[in-house]
Amino acid sequence: TTLLEFKKVSKQYGTDTRALTDVNFTVRKGEFVSIIGPSGAGKSTLLRCINRMIDANSGEIIFDGSNILEFKKSGLKRLRSQMGMVFQHYNLVNRLSVFENVLHGRLGYKSTLEGVLGIYSKEEKRQAYAILKTLGLEEQVYKRCDQLSGGQKQRVGIARALVQNPQMLLCDEPIASLDPNASKVIMDHLRNISTTMGITVIVNLHQVDTALKYSDRILGVNKGSIVYDGPPTGIDREQ
Ligand code: ADP
Ligand code: ADP
Repeated sequence: TTLLEFKKVSKQYGTDTRALTDVNFTVRKGEFVSIIGPSGAGKSTLLRCINRMIDANSGEIIFDGSNILEFKKSGLKRLRSQMGMVFQHYNLVNRLSVFENVLHGRLGYKSTLEGVLGIYSKEEKRQAYAILKTLGLEEQVYKRCDQLSGGQKQRVGIARALVQNPQMLLCDEPIASLDPNASKVIMDHLRNISTTMGITVIVNLHQVDTALKYSDRILGVNKGSIVYDGPPTGIDREQ
């Protein structure tokens, strides 16, 4: 079944930078999709249109049956709670613990009072701990985030995204700041999240070989257009 569909989506910055032009594609539930392409191709813009961190200018973005470009504030809040976001630079709060950062992932979607007071139920704490354990971070739970390695920080970023029980993870260059070993750990976790948890994963990657190795499907982007949409086996590495 289709979870996400782009129909003729275009995005222009200012008056003359066309970042996306008539982009069409669909993503099925549970699929692992990598977006590849050169710097400036529009990958990050595309990914950020999916949770409306960036607003597309035209077209339709259908998520779970609704055109998200028509959503008002409350719809947007609900939409973002269904889409976890993972960033290249982790975007953690360094002076807080791993546990607090992960629970923090819920804040945007809860009442301000709970947010300010940092009140979490036993069940929320139990779930956060379980996710951290799955990601191999049980030893790090009470450490401050600035004491972690890059790979550990990114696993916290993934845990923070997962704690809101999303249908989809959007990962913007999640391994661009990591060494090869840490990158492999992160990609293995993302693949596992898709395969065993059934969560749809969409990831922007510079590393074409990594994209080919891990993905069910590749979207090749160049100059704001989709230039390839198909299985990894259809990509000719000699080009
Ligand atoms: P990629 O992620 O593939 O490197 P981006 O989506 O970041 O590509 O950028 C696509 C195009 O849009 C580029 O020409 C970039 O310079 C431009 N762009 C991206 N963000 C902005 C912005 N906030 N304001 C103006 N132009 C932007
Ligand atoms: P990076 O440097 O890793 O690419 P950005 O600077 O692009 O990250 O992050 C953009 C901003 O979006 C950050 O300030 C971050 O706090 C904020 N942000 C984090 N999560 C979300 C979310 N789910 N939806 C909207 N904005 C978010």
